[in-house]
Amino acid sequence: MNGNLNVQTENIFPVIKKFLYSDHEIFLRELVSNAVDATQKLKAVSSRGELQGDLGDLTVEIVLDSKKKTLTFKDRGIGMTAEEVEKYINQIAFSGATDFLDKYKDVQENLIGHFGLGFYSAFMVADKVEIFTKSYKDAPAVHWTCDGSPTFEMVDDPKHTDRGTDIVLHIADDCKEFLQEQEILQLLRKYCRFMPIAIRFGEESVWVDSETEFDEVDDGNGGKKKQPKRVEKKQPRIINNTEPAWRKSPSSLTDEDYKKFYHELYPMNFEDPLFQIHLNVDYPFNLTGILYFPKVRKTIDPNRNKIQLYCNQVFVTDSVEGIVPDYLMLLHGVLDSPDIPLNVSRSYLQSDSNVKKISSHISKKVADKLEEMFKNDRKDFENKWDDIKIFIEYGMLTEEKFCERAMKFALFKNTQGEFFSLKDYRDKIAPLQTDKDKNVCYLYANDMEEQHAYIAKAKEKGYDVLLMDSVLTPHYLNLLEQKIEKTRFVRVDADTVEKLIPHDDTIPEKLTQEQKDKLKPIIEGELDTKKFTVQMESLESDDQPMLITQSEFMRRYKEMQATSGGSMGFYGELPESYNLVVNVNHPLIEEILNETDGEKQKQLVHQLTDLALLANGLLKGEALTEFVKRSVSMIK
Ligand code: ADP
Repeated sequence: MNGNLNVQTENIFPVIKKFLYSDHEIFLRELVSNAVDATQKLKAVSSRGELQGDLGDLTVEIVLDSKKKTLTFKDRGIGMTAEEVEKYINQIAFSGATDFLDKYKDVQENLIGHFGLGFYSAFMVADKVEIFTKSYKDAPAVHWTCDGSPTFEMVDDPKHTDRGTDIVLHIADDCKEFLQEQEILQLLRKYCRFMPIAIRFGEESVWVDSETEFDEVDDGNGGKKKQPKRVEKKQPRIINNTEPAWRKSPSSLTDEDYKKFYHELYPMNFEDPLFQIHLNVDYPFNLTGILYFPKVRKTIDPNRNKIQLYCNQVFVTDSVEGIVPDYLMLLHGVLDSPDIPLNVSRSYLQSDSNVKKISSHISKKVADKLEEMFKNDRKDFENKWDDIKIFIEYGMLTEEKFCERAMKFALFKNTQGEFFSLKDYRDKIAPLQTDKDKNVCYLYANDMEEQHAYIAKAKEKGYDVLLMDSVLTPHYLNLLEQKIEKTRFVRVDADTVEKLIPHDDTIPEKLTQEQKDKLKPIIEGELDTKKFTVQMESLESDDQPMLITQSEFMRRYKEMQATSGGSMGFYGELPESYNLVVNVNHPLIEEILNETDGEKQKQLVHQLTDLALLANGLLKGEALTEFVKRSVSMIK
């Protein structure tokens, strides 16, 4: 029988061929999926008792013949009768493809996974396609041929007696890459790695002990013994794991199993994940998957696309934007859901109600898991904190609901390495660290080495100092200041220790206003006044004579601008500026004032400002060399 395909347009083939040039490779996924589906249908028919006898080897096979320029997809599934080919291939599949292409023209955007093109995607790479198929039902086999024009040829083929379907693609000259074994192997591993029926492609070598050949080796006691030779053996190359961990029940898996699966997913990732969340929902949507928390530390991995999306074990994409909440894009693992619409545009996806539900379900599960870890094994949770805090902080900053939950399990770590829940910490510091306006002042450092002097000063006062050193810290502190009433975060070097947490008591000043007015220009004369502002303050007489501080507000906004990506706003463009605080009660300051020898006075000012810079890590290069020289000469 010859016929015309049921198409409105004569030029559907050129359209299919041109369709997303770079994504031609998806024909492979479509054809292997069809073969796997046909095999699963056969198993279903057999288990219902509609087919008697042994089903035989059901492995799907992909055969490359570079001489004949063909790529063949063989399955031993249910096959098709002539009527079924007419219905499913000539009518339905084709109209499916036409619909899909129409839709594609409308949206002009990347469709997720390009699902829906089905069987006809074969014409993206082939100029002729043949189908040999024999149904499990008692009907003659069919041979169908189509050479890329909308006409086809269909004849009975009594020679073909095996149940199942062979789809033969005659690869077009401009698609020769699909005749290379390595290319096909790589694509099969990408799309079919976890499909549920074994898929064979060619052979592979393994090294095994020979049963017939032996080597003579020392037996360790001066004698000889026989040892089997290692020989190369060819065996069928099966490219998939038909039972990936995410499809199994969580109770049947150990921690080791999860780790093993992680390394199967990411063979190039040698580090173990920290922990994982196994997703398993069947109502109101279907979702399975495993999300792994990798070790992240301080930096946000620029390669966010580590989560792979599957649809019934068929790989779709590793770009899960819109499906997974933004802060969890840093996780690794797999998601599998037939309820994510795949033949729609990305922008449509975000408004899809199932997708929204899936996204918030994932977020909820992550919060559940973290809370459970916090409650059940606090020590372990604390040990993992440095590696997971970035997810938590990022999540709290971007998801209102997650933030509410996380306020209960988020931790603070202080500079002694002790951990506290947000609430416990507030209770601990409130008595000493509440200022005159009833704000609880949280002191923090982001670098224990550089801010050592300031941390020590604060601790002397009995204050506690947090270590807040993630890239998100400035944003995170702003968030906490909004979420927890009467809260202020101040970095230890933002002010003198007295002023970090202002109380009512003030220390009497030793210098008169007149003396201060005289002193100021003397100090300013030795300083880059664009960068430093001189501030006279009344501190304890045994405090440092001079010290450097940097306003919390200015510094934090500058940092926030820098991490909010690209365009630096107003604050980002401000130059670095510091305060040089002069302790007017210190005896050395009085000495400067009373010094009559101009040179000596200069030297003293210089020495004290340098010491202040040094304590802040700001004295570098030539200035540092000068300082060392001057110090030596002053000792002499
Ligand atoms: P879809 O798989 O999305 O239904 P396709 O265009 O890929 O769309 O295939 C259309 C139909 O053709 C399938 O639903 C199936 O009934 C039939 N079919 C395709 N490939 C095979 C195969 N290898 N064995 C049996 N039937 C097949």
